[in-house]
Amino acid sequence: MPASAWDSLIVKCGPCKAPGCQYRAVRGSEYCCRYCQHAACPDSADVARECCPRSPDGHEPECPRLKRCVLQRSWWELFQCDQSYDEEAACLVVPPDNFESLSAPSPVLLFLSGNGHVNDREDFLWGCVDTLLRNPEVQSKFFVVAPKPTTSCGLLRYTGDGWKKSWAEDAVWAFFTEVLRRLGPSQVDPARLYSTGLSLGAAGVWHLAVTFGHYMAAVAPISGGCGWPGNSWPEDAGPDPIVKARLEALPIRAYQIDVDTRAGNPERDMTWLCWDVEEERAELCLPGVDPGTTVEVKTRCWQRRAGAPWDLWMPVGPLQDHSFWSRWGGDSHCLWTRVYPFPEWGLAEFLLRHSTPKARQWRFDDPPLLVDTTELRRQQEAAWAEEAAAGPQARAREAVGADGAADEHDHAATGQPPRPVAASEAKKARVAQEAPEALGPEADAARAA
Ligand SMILES: [Zn+2]
Ligand SMILES: [Zn+2]
Repeated sequence: MPASAWDSLIVKCGPCKAPGCQYRAVRGSEYCCRYCQHAACPDSADVARECCPRSPDGHEPECPRLKRCVLQRSWWELFQCDQSYDEEAACLVVPPDNFESLSAPSPVLLFLSGNGHVNDREDFLWGCVDTLLRNPEVQSKFFVVAPKPTTSCGLLRYTGDGWKKSWAEDAVWAFFTEVLRRLGPSQVDPARLYSTGLSLGAAGVWHLAVTFGHYMAAVAPISGGCGWPGNSWPEDAGPDPIVKARLEALPIRAYQIDVDTRAGNPERDMTWLCWDVEEERAELCLPGVDPGTTVEVKTRCWQRRAGAPWDLWMPVGPLQDHSFWSRWGGDSHCLWTRVYPFPEWGLAEFLLRHSTPKARQWRFDDPPLLVDTTELRRQQEAAWAEEAAAGPQARAREAVGADGAADEHDHAATGQPPRPVAASEAKKARVAQEAPEALGPEADAARAA
C-alpha cells in the first residue's frame, strides 16, 4: 500500500500548532483556523473584530477539522488516466472509520471538487473534500475517492467554449474504476457506487451521470448544472433517448441556491425532464453555517412510476446564515458548506437509500476504459491557433465572453466579492460551467512546465 496521505508530498500535511489540537494545519498557516491561531498566540489578528463566529467546538465554522488519524489511514493513488498525457493523475482515497475491521464490502463515494482547486490554486484539503469528510455518516460508511484536478494529467478537458474547463468524465471514470479494481471486491460494493461534487464538480457529476449513470446507484450534484456534453442534448432537439433513459433510471438529488447560475443551474432541465411526472413540494428548516442559524429550503420531489426519484433542494438565496458573506449581501453559491457537514441535509441518507440492480452493476472483470484524447486535443489546439490568427478583435470578444463567472473561493484569496454572473442566460440554462483562468491554456502549460 502507498504511504499515508499524512506523509505524502502530493498535498503536504502538518499538525495544527495549537496545544491539544488534532487537526491538520491549512496551507500557508501553522494552524487549522483562526481560533486555534488566536488561542496559541493571543497577539495574532483579533478574531472577534473580524466578525468570525465561534462554533461550540471552539473552531471557526469553516475550519476543515481534518484529523491527523483520518489522513494517516488515507492514501493517494496514481494513474495515467488519458494516454494523451504523460503525467499521472492523483486521487485521494479515504477509507471508512472501521476500515481495519470491515466484514462486508462498502459503498464508494466519488467526490469532484470545484474550480478553486484546479492546479493547486487552493489547498486541496481546505474547502474541498475536507468539507464532505466532516459528515459523520460519510466518514463512517463510505470509501471517499477524490481525484485532484489538474490540466496536465487529463482529468480536466476544455469544453470548446473559450477557455472553459470541465471535469473529463471519461478520464474520471477510467481512474475511478481503476481505484475500485485496486480496492477489490472484498472492500467495494459495486451496487453502491455514488458521486457528489460542488460547482465545477457538480457539472462533472451531471456529465458522469449522462455517460456512466447506469453504473451508479445515486448522485448528488451541489451548485452546478449539466452542460450536456457531446450530442447528449443537441441545441435543436430533445435529449438523446439513451441518455434520457439512463438519467430516468438514476436517483438524483440536486442541491442548488435558487439564484445561483455560476456553474449552471439544473432547475429548468430537471423540470423539463420531469414534465409528466407527479411532483411533491415541501419546505424544510435546516442548519446553517454559523452556530444557531438555519436555512429555509424548498424541496421539489419527482417520483416516477417506473424509474428513479429526482429531488431538487433549493434554498432561497442569497443565504444569510454565514456572516462571512454579509458584506456581499449573502452567499449565492457555496451551498455545500451546509449540505456536506450537517447530516440534517440528508446527503448520505439519500444516497444509501439507493442501490444499483445487479443487471447493470459495474463489474471488476469489465475491460478497463482506455482514454486517449490526442486527436481531440490536436483539433482544439488548431482551433485556438486559428482564433489567435484572427486578430486582437476576436481575442477581445472572447475575453468578454469568457468572463462569465468567478471562482467560488476568489473571495478568500483576494478579499474581493465574487464577480457578478453574466446576465444573459443561454438557451435552456446551458450556462458556462466555471471560471476561466486569466490566460487560459498557455498559463496552464507554463505552470506545468
Ligand atoms: Zn487547530
Ligand atoms: Zn480549527
